[in-house]
Amino acid sequence: MTAEVHSFQTEVQQLMNLMVHSLYSNKEIFLRELISNSSDAVDKLRFEEITNHNLLKSEKENSILIRNDKDNNILIIEDNGIGMTKDELMNNLGTIASSGTKKFLEKLSEQDKKDSNLIGQFGVGFYSAFMVAKKIVVESRSAHGGEAYKWTSAGDGTYTIEPSSKETRGTTIELHLKDDEKEFIDDWRIRGIVRKYSDYVTYPIFFLEKKEDGATEEVRLNKSTPVWARNKRENKPEDYQELYKQISMDWKEPLLWEHISVEGLVPFNAVVFIPTEAPFDLYTRDNHGLHLYVKRVSITEKCKELLPEYLRFISGVVETDELPLNVSREILQHNNKLPQIKKQIIKKVLSSLQNLANNDSEKYFNFYKTFGAVLKEGFHFDFEQHETLSDLVRFKSSKTGKDGWVSFKEYIERKADGQKEIYYLTGPNFESIERSPHLEALTSKGIEVLFLIDPIDEWFIMSYNKHGEYNLKSINKGDLDLNGVGKETEEEKKNEEKPVEELVGLLDLFRTKLSDEIKEVKISKRLRESACCLVADENGMSAHMERIMKATGQGMANNNKRILEINPSHNLIKNLADRKNKGADETTLNEWVEVLYETALLSEGSPVKNPGTFAKRLTKIMEMASGK
Ligand code: ADP
Repeated sequence: MTAEVHSFQTEVQQLMNLMVHSLYSNKEIFLRELISNSSDAVDKLRFEEITNHNLLKSEKENSILIRNDKDNNILIIEDNGIGMTKDELMNNLGTIASSGTKKFLEKLSEQDKKDSNLIGQFGVGFYSAFMVAKKIVVESRSAHGGEAYKWTSAGDGTYTIEPSSKETRGTTIELHLKDDEKEFIDDWRIRGIVRKYSDYVTYPIFFLEKKEDGATEEVRLNKSTPVWARNKRENKPEDYQELYKQISMDWKEPLLWEHISVEGLVPFNAVVFIPTEAPFDLYTRDNHGLHLYVKRVSITEKCKELLPEYLRFISGVVETDELPLNVSREILQHNNKLPQIKKQIIKKVLSSLQNLANNDSEKYFNFYKTFGAVLKEGFHFDFEQHETLSDLVRFKSSKTGKDGWVSFKEYIERKADGQKEIYYLTGPNFESIERSPHLEALTSKGIEVLFLIDPIDEWFIMSYNKHGEYNLKSINKGDLDLNGVGKETEEEKKNEEKPVEELVGLLDLFRTKLSDEIKEVKISKRLRESACCLVADENGMSAHMERIMKATGQGMANNNKRILEINPSHNLIKNLADRKNKGADETTLNEWVEVLYETALLSEGSPVKNPGTFAKRLTKIMEMASGK
């Protein structure tokens, strides 16, 4: 049979071009990628072997062998793993299987394409070998039987496929090095790269060494015990960093890692990593989890049962001998040992974050900026960890400024005299609430207000409404009684003395005019400079939540009417009350009432119903005022 010629899928060519341009300074990683593929192939074989006894046998131990043919400039990487059938060769080495990678490639902008870190996020894989090879020959025999096949390509858009005479199980990859990449044929160069990147690999990586006398010997290059199974003291930081790069596809150094060795009821070893930067799919990823090994056999790369969703940014490895080797997905889901391991991992991760917060707040804030919102999901899903999580959350507040942070602990330490509640305000961002009228009284009394400005915060607050003995109290919901809290101000004294009768008529006017929009009009205790503001019922929905619900298509008609509060000390309110009491024309007064209501909407960030009408009314009022 002659060789069949096939074309690469467009995306493959795209990926190869991208790699050549972005990774030129880091070409050596091609060897790590090929070794990693070989190691995966042996993993797959060992996993299948447990239940399938008909797989092709190999005379050698499960391993990877590297050879260098210096005369012909060919570097060879060989494994006795699961191998590939003809179809698998064509599907795996001619297309990009992962739809995630495909979508990602489509999304990459020209600018992004220059950023090698982004490429690191989805792994470069087999095709990276074309950075150093002008031709690649892959010969493979599947452990499932059938003919062996040979795949050949010069990375120029096509590949050929033809029968091969390979007799043994597994895959042999020949890289015909480019003329200017001959450095990779050198013994020491090869040894160096393997030690640097692949020391963690669980299977032996041998190098075929040629002695002076022409004899050859297979020497092992990697350590025999994987990082997580070694004693912590034997490991160097580089060992962890390398393991991280391999399992996470992240090129950046991890922020921190924890090596966990538990001896108790369910003994296990684990290394877990917290990344420095968010993976691009942090909010959409559903493939989080830890790589699970049982007795050195890789069981699954993303074991969800070992990691809660709110720690989905964590990557790592867990090995336990407590599970049967032939464990299936169903068994994993119902296994009672995994939850115990998971619990320990959660505990360790949270306590290491706590340490970071205590010892390096700068670093912690950076972590928090990136992952805080995800961590907060834990309040909803993990009741048991509420206390620990509450030590880890940080907020912006009326006292921190835009760049500062405050913890619950600090908030309580600096609370105002007589303060028995933790005050907060929700909103879409710092700017939109820092000038909120709702803050006025609290600010003037020196009381700090937490700004809950993450989209998740409305849910956070539903799951966590009490911190220790302190209720969390929204300052734009329900009554706000600040009597005896913080310093007493002049306005408060004045308001106390204010005869309410003067305002009765005006309040009635508001009620009648705005009956469709609001539930009630009240005299406010929270305003200082502003004339009015809107508040929700104690159990009602904040304006921010209402907007979120609307934005997500969960409209709620008009059953969420709010209360309009007016400031009895404000000159505008006083003047209007005066006019009303003196029997002024109600048509004009009504216009003022409408505009006041609309400014209350604007100041909380809500849209006015009809901007055109609002502008006309405002202009008319300004016209009247300017004429005087
Ligand atoms: P990735 O490893 O990220 O899936 P690659 O492009 O490196 O992407 O490899 C594509 C696929 O080719 C692998 O998923 C695997 O199925 C197959 N493959 C690559 N190398 C080997 C090998 N040495 N033995 C068996 N299969 C392999």
